[in-house]
Amino acid sequence: MIEKNSFLIISASGVRGIVGEGLVPEVVVGLAAAFGEIRKGKILVGYDTRTSNEMFKYAVISALLSTGCEVIDLGICPTPSVQLMVRKSGANGGVVITGSHNPAEWNALKFVRSDGLFLFPEEGEELVKVYRERRIKWSRWNGIGKVYRDDTAVEYHIDRIMELVDVDKIKGKNFKVVIDACNGAGSVISPVLLERLGCKTFKINCNISGYFPHLPEPIPDNLQQLCRAVKDYEADIGFAHDIDADRLALVVEGGRAISEEYTLALVTKFVLQKSPGLVVTNVCTSQMIDDIAEQFNCPVKRTRVGDIYVSRCMMDCGAVIGGEGNGGVIFPLINYARDGVMALALLLNYMAEEKESISSIVDKLPRYYRFKNKVKSYKVNLDKLREDLLKKFSSNRVDFTDGVKIWFNEGWVHMRKSGTEPVVRIIGEAKDPEDAEKLSNWALNFIDEFSY
Ligand code: MG
Repeated sequence: MIEKNSFLIISASGVRGIVGEGLVPEVVVGLAAAFGEIRKGKILVGYDTRTSNEMFKYAVISALLSTGCEVIDLGICPTPSVQLMVRKSGANGGVVITGSHNPAEWNALKFVRSDGLFLFPEEGEELVKVYRERRIKWSRWNGIGKVYRDDTAVEYHIDRIMELVDVDKIKGKNFKVVIDACNGAGSVISPVLLERLGCKTFKINCNISGYFPHLPEPIPDNLQQLCRAVKDYEADIGFAHDIDADRLALVVEGGRAISEEYTLALVTKFVLQKSPGLVVTNVCTSQMIDDIAEQFNCPVKRTRVGDIYVSRCMMDCGAVIGGEGNGGVIFPLINYARDGVMALALLLNYMAEEKESISSIVDKLPRYYRFKNKVKSYKVNLDKLREDLLKKFSSNRVDFTDGVKIWFNEGWVHMRKSGTEPVVRIIGEAKDPEDAEKLSNWALNFIDEFSY
């Protein structure tokens, strides 16, 4: 079956694959038609800048029209702009064609509910079922939908962000900012927003060619060009997005790239000092979040890994801020969705209120040394590992929200089966670099006991 191909992953969170290998128009048409069949009515379609999107947008639109949907083509825009427009327009849903932080050969479809959130896992499973069982009623000649164009998504997104930050205060600072959108969808929004916020803006990699000048994941290793630009232009800060701009990473003045874990930590600190409340993040996001929340006497809830689990918990529990350590900030006053553009504006607002530079703000945050490893998952018996952990550790030191998380005096270790690769990921943190190394070795040895 095509969906078992290693170049294609179909799951409750959508479909992703390598273009022309596993991800071909046939699959895209099938899934988009299943979505049209379930949602019906008005559906918004937006996409990032990938070279494969010209092909896939017609496949998606054709599938939706053929199930009787009315399609609004939003053009190239960030994922959070599509999510916001779905909610605003009262549409029945949205489809985003984006490979997000993945390299250019990848692409994916993400499906949006009428409230602007991604499909909940149970809804995603239903979609896959409809697709696999081919339960689609194709429209006859007189039941086919119509397609309209709407180019206002980016403008609306910018307007909403401007309402939520202190524009005058940011303008008063005349910040010098470098933006690297990796030639992704962020190219059409963040430079415009920065200009409106009165920043002297230096754009690098802000054209929509679909050719990515570096790997798109916004992590320090991929931000060398931005580091140089921040240094050369003597900028106050540099911002980097992934291709659909739901994520944001920073380069501080002088040209130092900081871990993407700092994005959520900084925004959380800024939001909590203005409006204390619940913070929601996933189990493997940095402990910095708990330390910051504690300063303001605020509770933290941790969910499974995956932005939909965070969004859903934030909505259900009334969180004031949340997100993931990969640079994905969810600010509920705009939407329950990761939004790298909103995060950028919040950070400028934070910088405008502080007397210090961004690097001194960062250096005052609690510091953790983080480690990451992975081992082949088909070799690991996770059930047995879990049983053994409960024998070895008291129950308040282990957590099974998603995989296993174990707390030690020196730090923590988290192990979970990856949703995208056949591996168990091991992530952890400690305050001291030597302790981090010890914990990392402990985890590798421990998992080895349960491997065969
Ligand atoms: Mg993304």
